[in-house]
Amino acid sequence: MKRYLGNSLFVSLLVAGCGGASKPPETAVPAEGGSPAGQWSTGPEEKKVEPIAALPVEPAKAPPAPPAVNPFAGAKFYVNPDYTTKVEATAKEVPEIAPQIKKLGKQPTAMWLESLGALKHLPRWLEDAGKQEKAAGKPLVPVFLVYNLPNRDCSAKSSAGELTTENDGEKRYRSEFIDKIAEQFAAHPKQKIVAILEPDSLPNIATNLDKEKCALSEKVYRNSVAYAISKLSLPNVSLYLDAAHAGWLGWDSNRAKIAQIFKEVLDAAGGPDRIRGFATNVANYTSLDGEANKKLESSNPCPNEHLYVEKLAASLEAVGIKNKGFLIDTSRNGKDGIRVKWGNWCNVKDAGLGERPKINPKPLIDAYLWVKPPGESDGTAERGAPRFDESCVSEDSDPAAPQAGEWFKSYFVGLVKNAQPPL
Ligand code: BGC
Repeated sequence: MKRYLGNSLFVSLLVAGCGGASKPPETAVPAEGGSPAGQWSTGPEEKKVEPIAALPVEPAKAPPAPPAVNPFAGAKFYVNPDYTTKVEATAKEVPEIAPQIKKLGKQPTAMWLESLGALKHLPRWLEDAGKQEKAAGKPLVPVFLVYNLPNRDCSAKSSAGELTTENDGEKRYRSEFIDKIAEQFAAHPKQKIVAILEPDSLPNIATNLDKEKCALSEKVYRNSVAYAISKLSLPNVSLYLDAAHAGWLGWDSNRAKIAQIFKEVLDAAGGPDRIRGFATNVANYTSLDGEANKKLESSNPCPNEHLYVEKLAASLEAVGIKNKGFLIDTSRNGKDGIRVKWGNWCNVKDAGLGERPKINPKPLIDAYLWVKPPGESDGTAERGAPRFDESCVSEDSDPAAPQAGEWFKSYFVGLVKNAQPPL
């Protein structure tokens, strides 16, 4: 049953997504505080559908990477040569700002394992990292983003994936995707590796069970993420779970919910020591320190990512998940106050590159990273195109956007021009 949230007992959490894609939970959940008028929502407790049964998970067997150690400490980031190629091609096409653009070719970005097909690049990246490491004379850490969950992107459409529960996607996720990644990681035991798992997946379980696809997928999401942890937790691999961003899970009640879900999933995978920590703001635009979002969502105690990470760490401690490190995606969060609605997550206009990737920038934070490669689209703005999502034509969205993941040159140029700090 739908519930109107236009009174002071509820808070909107309409906010949104990130997503590896960037997904929005444009939903509202009960919480403390008031809510913007006109917000309809169904609370998770009212879901009508029974979740699809999921395959069981066994706890991890291999020894984990040291859970209390920042994997980037004393190391450098691996630079993805494929991103450098894209950036250099664009520099030639936009000579007026070519010097600034070229600087980006030296910046590390995460490598997205976002389809079965993407796995063909993995051996090459790992071998190249080994070579760069020898040349650098110090450890070099590649960052992978693992993003191919069955029924992916349950609260939005733009990054719906190839695996579904109808096409045997749950089994295939295990045997054709996670097991293959685990084999490759294990085949390079001396290579330190960071992997961030499945953006939006567990946050969607925390707040978006009013969406049928999310409610149906709840168990499959939980067990698939637990499976990914149990297999990818290896002595040379430090894992981070996606924890959405301040504008999605910043509210006290939402942080409590996600912490509990993390606890349950980690317990199934072998315990909190199986991961190093959590990644926030993946593919979103929330700034590190700004206050602008206070005006948009005054009831949210976390107007920015730094505060969110602090408060999230406390919520995690309350359920026994302690001494974790955090990664923040700063690829596109340089400019604060660019949105009319915090929940708008797709190709936000006027965005600028944020802090350059940096190791140990502050207590609690293992690194600022560019997880979303700047210049890759969040989703198509073309109505009628496959995977079109209404959010990509929001008042805050750039209307010229191609499909998620495709190169969006004019948007990239905007990110460079609006970079904060400047390039
Ligand atoms: C897309 C992926 C892409 C990633 C990084 C996501 O929104 O769904 O295909 O690799 O963004 O740009």
